[in-house]
Amino acid sequence: MPATFLKSITDLSQLPPGKKYHIALVGRSNVGKSSLVNRLTNQKALARVSATPGHTQTINFYDIDGRYFLVDLPGYGFTRSAKSKQLKFKDLINEYLSNVQHLALVLLIIDSRIGPTEADRTMYAALATAKIPTTMVLNKVDKISRAQAMQLQRTLAAEFPDVTFVQHSTYEVKDRGILLDAIEQSLRAA
Ligand code: GDP
Repeated sequence: MPATFLKSITDLSQLPPGKKYHIALVGRSNVGKSSLVNRLTNQKALARVSATPGHTQTINFYDIDGRYFLVDLPGYGFTRSAKSKQLKFKDLINEYLSNVQHLALVLLIIDSRIGPTEADRTMYAALATAKIPTTMVLNKVDKISRAQAMQLQRTLAAEFPDVTFVQHSTYEVKDRGILLDAIEQSLRAA
């Protein structure tokens, strides 16, 4: 069975039933989550890649080979959104994280050019408190030099000693395999 879009939800009562593991993606708007969904599922337009940040206001579920769910959480920290809307996104993320039963891994996606924002740090703190296995994906590394990417990873490893890091570019084919390996490893460990 290939990767398929399952559904978008706006309320936790709509979580898909069953015991399949979830692999969740979190990150600020425009960090490249939709591109990552398309890349991981090897489909060009499964998730809409938008030039207009902040469009994703739902939790989107993708069924991966009938084995697990890839869960795209709403992007946060987009300044052009109304403040109330931003809070609602955050509530939805927090509600998801505190209610989901079978979360094997969160991929916290960071923009390598920007580094972690305050919102990313707050997000990570919530994940650490909930003891949710987290991998930080340093995305868009094609935009910085290799030396800069290594330096960023060293700095972040000092700040977040319990985190696994993956350097990633949507344009680099081999990076897909590295992320899929991290996902498979988390499923085995869950
Ligand atoms: P989302 O809002 O997090 O879903 O982000 P999108 O997937 O819509 O991507 C936002 C923008 O970043 C788009 O213009 C993408 O083409 C671009 N983008 C995504 N991943 C990468 C990457 O690895 N490298 C570069 N240079 N651009 C990327």
